Amino acid sequence: PLIMPIYGTRPEAIKMAPIVAALHESTTLEQFTTVTGQHRSMLDQVNGLFGIVPDHDLNIFSPGQTLNGILTKTIDGLDKLFSVSRPDAVVVQGDTTTSTAGAIAAFYHSIPVVHVEAGLRSGDLFSPFPEEANRKMTSQIASLHLAPTTTSRDNLLRENIPAADIVVTGNTVIDALFMTVDKKVPFSDPALEKLAQDGGRILLVTTHRRENQGEAMRGVGRALARIADAEPDLTIVVPLHKNPVVRAAVMPFIEGKENVLVVEPLAYGEFTRMLAMSHVVLTDSGGVQEEAPSLGKPVLVMRENTERPEAVVAGTVKLIGTDEDRIVTEVDQLLNDQAHFESMANAVNPYGDGKAASRTVAAIEELLGVGSRISDF
Ligand code: UDP
Repeated sequence: PLIMPIYGTRPEAIKMAPIVAALHESTTLEQFTTVTGQHRSMLDQVNGLFGIVPDHDLNIFSPGQTLNGILTKTIDGLDKLFSVSRPDAVVVQGDTTTSTAGAIAAFYHSIPVVHVEAGLRSGDLFSPFPEEANRKMTSQIASLHLAPTTTSRDNLLRENIPAADIVVTGNTVIDALFMTVDKKVPFSDPALEKLAQDGGRILLVTTHRRENQGEAMRGVGRALARIADAEPDLTIVVPLHKNPVVRAAVMPFIEGKENVLVVEPLAYGEFTRMLAMSHVVLTDSGGVQEEAPSLGKPVLVMRENTERPEAVVAGTVKLIGTDEDRIVTEVDQLLNDQAHFESMANAVNPYGDGKAASRTVAAIEELLGVGSRISDF
């Protein structure tokens, strides 16, 4: 059988890469990897790191692209592709517009949809926007739901997805992390290499989420400036998302501060090394919430809710919202209250054991009648 992984953004590429590798090893499945190019440069960077050369590239990226533009161009491109190269199943990951478009295009061709990282729910249709709605739409039409945890499986069961169509795999981001973190990839920015040599405490910050753009993100910028002034021995590393809206919100407050290093988005290998070097992580990212606990790093999440409650329950992630004063206070507490720091740093990673990709491939083999599932995570 022919399997078509379809993806287009950085987080999907990172989480799909271990599956692409595992599909290559399968003796029963063939693959045809298709990318959309929703995040052009960040996508190519991840594919390069994992040695993935896509079989087909829809190349839909355009500056200032809209969600509807991404959706319609992806569906149109896949519609044409499916008539020349018809897969037995498509694999989409997570909650991006690319993944939902891929699922819809396949569904309208009666091609079974395999949904990786299924069943995450924040409970608020508009937060994260558009991700919560995207993932729910994909759940409605997928044939196989690969839930990273039992919590996500239970969310799907509550929405009447049949238990037989759900497999708990763990999250493939942990596979990807284990594949890269020990490699000590050199930093392309000399300032980061110097930081690695010099040592010292690092606060790693990422922010990009659509619902935080605007005033909330300016508050993040102001909070970072206050933390930088209050903690001269701390280095704040900010790999800033390519989105110009994000840059405009944050940059004016932190530009020129001596202990704030604003850098381009880091290649994945560099990012995992930076994560391992960090003391505390401040983020609104989904994937980073899953990775950092594996490395024993406390994570402060700048959102009001999360579709990833497992690490909050475990105690390694704390939801703090985007209020400027709150961000300053929470970072201060982690930097200066050792007992509090240790209680978060010592919690256990609930997201995977590095074998999610092989469970994924086995579940697809079972779906297509050419193999059988292995034990759940
Ligand atoms: N990441 C990266 N370089 C960076 C920042 C993040 O490679 O400069 C990785 C990070 O390790 C995680 C993923 O990108 O695996 C998260 O992507 P993002 O925050 O864009 O999306 P989300 O996870 O929120 O959907």
